[in-house]
Amino acid sequence: MRAIGIDIGGTKIAGAVVDEFGEILRSERRPSPAGDPVLMEQTIVEMINSLAEGEEIAAAGVAAAGFIDAAQSSVYYAPNINWRNEPLREKLEKRVSVPVIIENDANAAGWAEFRFGAGRLVSDMVMLTIGTGVGGAIVADDRLLRGGFGAGAELGHLRIVPGGLACGCGQHGCIEQYGSGRALLRLANEIADAGGIGQALASAREAAGALDGGIVGSLIAQRDPGAVAALRQLGHWIGQAAASLSAVLDPQLFVIGGGVAASGDLLIEPIRASYLDHLPARGYHPEPDFVIAELVNDAGVVGAADLARIYVGDHR
Ligand SMILES: [Zn+2]
Repeated sequence: MRAIGIDIGGTKIAGAVVDEFGEILRSERRPSPAGDPVLMEQTIVEMINSLAEGEEIAAAGVAAAGFIDAAQSSVYYAPNINWRNEPLREKLEKRVSVPVIIENDANAAGWAEFRFGAGRLVSDMVMLTIGTGVGGAIVADDRLLRGGFGAGAELGHLRIVPGGLACGCGQHGCIEQYGSGRALLRLANEIADAGGIGQALASAREAAGALDGGIVGSLIAQRDPGAVAALRQLGHWIGQAAASLSAVLDPQLFVIGGGVAASGDLLIEPIRASYLDHLPARGYHPEPDFVIAELVNDAGVVGAADLARIYVGDHR
């Protein structure tokens, strides 16, 4: 049975009809009216209705950034859209002809990776998504771990430095401040300021006015020692966070996703080394694999659709 997945991003909304094997059969993209919750709801309704036309659809899953309740129906809080305790499922179901569920976007992407991507052969997996911020998803015992209130697996706010850098969440020392794309730029700027191996970063910064992800990414691809050192520092922090996560969850696999994951083995290698350095009871703990995510752009829609299909199956 086919299902629809909708993934609400900051600039665009992606939608697709997805079959039970995770294959996308039809897709649609629209600009995201992020500042306008009424137009946002209207756009989601139009996309579900247009994708459902002429199809037999079991359900639709809508993925959004934010805290979603454990019943997969309300958005407690969305950082980019003015949704506060928004009963989104109820509102959408009045206007479309299929059952709807709401899911956190990182959870949806992680679930897709678990079902159809890098995690398809394991039962326990942690995904860490290194984009502008740090996101994540946990699969434990073949199930997506949402937490009792639905706000679990906010891996970006795992504290790794007591009294460390201030975070947008109101706390200090979260991994998001040390292991995100934004943190990579901070580290690259520090290395550029220090001279030595930072020379190429400093010249690129001077030429462009400021460093951005594209500049640092291309210097990493050229194996520039300064840019690679910044990436290694980031990997060091992510590896520490992974070691703490292993103590709680003991996954067989860590999947690394997000834009920074394009660096591939250059990122995986320092993560694994730091993980082993910080692992409790090292030598007695089976070693998980660290791999790059496989479903890069489509994970959100594929995961949202699959979770919607599963929800309808469980609640029939
Ligand atoms: Zn935080």
